[in-house]
Amino acid sequence: MTDPLEQLRRLQGSDLPVHGGRTLAYVYDSGDADVDRIAREAVAAYAGSNALDPTAFPSLLQMENDLVGFACDLLDAPDTAVGTVSSGGTESILLAVQGARDSRPDVVRPRMVLPETAHAAFHKAAHYFGVEAVVVPVGPDFRADAAAMASAIDDSTVLVVASAPSYAHGVVDPVPQIAAAASARGVRCHVDACIGGWVLPYASRLGREVTPWTFAVDGVTSISVDTHKYAYAPKGTSILLHRTPELRRPQFFAWAGWPGYTMLNATTQSTRSGGPIAGTWAVVQAIGDAGYERLAGEVFDAVDAIVALVGSIPPLRVVVPPESTLVTLATDETCDPFTVTDEMLARGWYVQPQLSYGTSGPTIHLSVSAATRQHLDELATALRESVAAAVEAGPVGVDDGVVAFIEALDPAALGDDDFDGLLAASGLVGQDDDGGLALPTRMAEVNAMLDVASPAMREALLVAFLDRLQRPSR
Ligand SMILES: *Cc1c(COP(=O)(O)O)cnc(C)c1O
Repeated sequence: MTDPLEQLRRLQGSDLPVHGGRTLAYVYDSGDADVDRIAREAVAAYAGSNALDPTAFPSLLQMENDLVGFACDLLDAPDTAVGTVSSGGTESILLAVQGARDSRPDVVRPRMVLPETAHAAFHKAAHYFGVEAVVVPVGPDFRADAAAMASAIDDSTVLVVASAPSYAHGVVDPVPQIAAAASARGVRCHVDACIGGWVLPYASRLGREVTPWTFAVDGVTSISVDTHKYAYAPKGTSILLHRTPELRRPQFFAWAGWPGYTMLNATTQSTRSGGPIAGTWAVVQAIGDAGYERLAGEVFDAVDAIVALVGSIPPLRVVVPPESTLVTLATDETCDPFTVTDEMLARGWYVQPQLSYGTSGPTIHLSVSAATRQHLDELATALRESVAAAVEAGPVGVDDGVVAFIEALDPAALGDDDFDGLLAASGLVGQDDDGGLALPTRMAEVNAMLDVASPAMREALLVAFLDRLQRPSR
């Protein structure tokens, strides 16, 4: 038998690299090999432990309380604050919405007020928990319109949301005004700091201008911050903080009405691997407060350098000056952004395409890591070459007939055969040499086609795509 670990290493060869600072979405790299080793060993040591029962695994309770304590200090939390370690940003957001809904059993049709830039996880929460999302357009600077959000609050509003920062544009919403408006109506205000929460406090300490957004702002009732992003921890942890234990209470679930153990959970999971908790705890111990400040200095050096670089490549522009570690780029009409992202990948760099939304065209997203700073010269070369290649290649045409066809389709009325045809025509699903399913290697044409589709059509196509991908190998 071939060594399974050997096989794993071979399989992993087709994935994006997790280390090296060249994958600028999905992964976050401290650039410190010691930190990575400590994380791996801690995850392995606790992979079989179960955080379901804190009396059976008290060390995991201790680690969770330590992590929540560290986050409380970082986010200016008052002494009353409490928190929970969840499996990721989406789970923290789901719990914030579920808790807000269940804190108001008097409200028949609960609603939450979101800026349109709020993370998709809030829409998932709306879908799961039957909370209506009231979506408010943002201003020309891509920040939430606090006055419009205040006017959208009504007697059925159970939650108001702000981002610090938003994923797509990397800017911080006017949290003081939004939280004040929520508080004036007695409504909870959640700040989604999933991506910025572990790095913005250090930006402030380094003397950078950051809109106030922590618990230092009156009216902020809960904050989500993902440790598996800028705490550089292994995947599988986020922290949800509440200003008081009373605010957290509806999040807990207990069930004694069956013959087994009384189930008692603080999150959506019941059995929870100790691996990510121990891995996160070990990484936070290893890096520590001073280490995070140093890493923040490195990542912001890289952000500043990237902004300067973009200014020297004419077809590119920064969509909005970054307030955090996220940089959003747009291209002019001479340069197709989806070709740029393909060309970057061919040069070993993953940057993330973002499709058009409303009146805004497509953009390119970069989540910059501390490790990226060591490779800035290489990034400059890759970006210059990729832009030149995209200009040279010209526009990625989507046939007028195809555009008209896609626009005319009602996704709700399409059947499996229609989707098979569309997936093949779009290039999303091809066949490999053995007749199996093949993933596209160049995405520009696929993205160009998705870009002309409506959001509902994109969702339907991609769901059909995932359905085709997730089939058993046997
Ligand atoms: C990443 C992110 C989330 C979702 O987090 P996951 O860990 O991917 O579930 C939510 N909000 C923001 C702003 C994020 O960047």
